[in-house]
Amino acid sequence: MITRKPIFPHVIELNMQAGHLMGCNVYLVYDADEWMLLDIGYEDTVEEIVDLIRDLDFPLSHCKTLLATHADVDHSQGFAKAKQILKTSVTAHPRAAHLLETGDRLQTFAEIDAQGIHESMPPVIVEHKVNEGDTLRVGSLELEVWSTPGHADSQLAFRLGNLLLSGDNIYRDGGVGAIDAHHGSDIPSFIRSLERIRDSSIEWLLPSHGPYFRKDVAMINRVLDRLRGYLHLSDFGTCAIDWPLMKLWEQEIAEGKLPE
Ligand SMILES: [Zn+2]
Repeated sequence: MITRKPIFPHVIELNMQAGHLMGCNVYLVYDADEWMLLDIGYEDTVEEIVDLIRDLDFPLSHCKTLLATHADVDHSQGFAKAKQILKTSVTAHPRAAHLLETGDRLQTFAEIDAQGIHESMPPVIVEHKVNEGDTLRVGSLELEVWSTPGHADSQLAFRLGNLLLSGDNIYRDGGVGAIDAHHGSDIPSFIRSLERIRDSSIEWLLPSHGPYFRKDVAMINRVLDRLRGYLHLSDFGTCAIDWPLMKLWEQEIAEGKLPE
């Protein structure tokens, strides 16, 4: 048996618990003997994670469900294997469920041919579909389900008291989940999701990558300004809502304006 190192009451993060980086953050939320996992990471770390949970003295048969923040390969490739070992269910947003059940490799970033990325996505059945306003129970704890689209259209976050298990919304350095049209990213939705997080009573963000951090309104505002800029620049292609330079260009063509 290993000593449990919760990062907050009822929450263990398994990279921190293991003392080394295995992959995406995997949160174990527990109350008494009941527990659930938030995300799982790649398939090749599943056995280490399950061994760790056993060593922490959580009964494997008391895993309530495996919960997905979204369907990206680095969060969810291991669900099929973990589900088989733990004999539990999978819980996800309906659109993430579709990607997980069909083993979609494009929208989950498993297949990026131009970068030589060719990962597998073992299909997994999702028993429970959850969305905005739903509540998940672990022992006597209640997790509130937030739909926070932006990075992905199926991105979820989960509120536990003053904590937000925040998925790929925002990281400690002000980075956000990748913006990619093929991935279902939507910048106006992203802005609304981050404004909601900023304006909430949440005090701590527990993201799916990198360190957990205290919510910082000034930092989120800087990130929002950056994202609002993207709406009018070419940086993320069709994710922009307009491109003012093209209006200017049209005018300059009409005037025959040459470089000064
Ligand atoms: Zn991610």
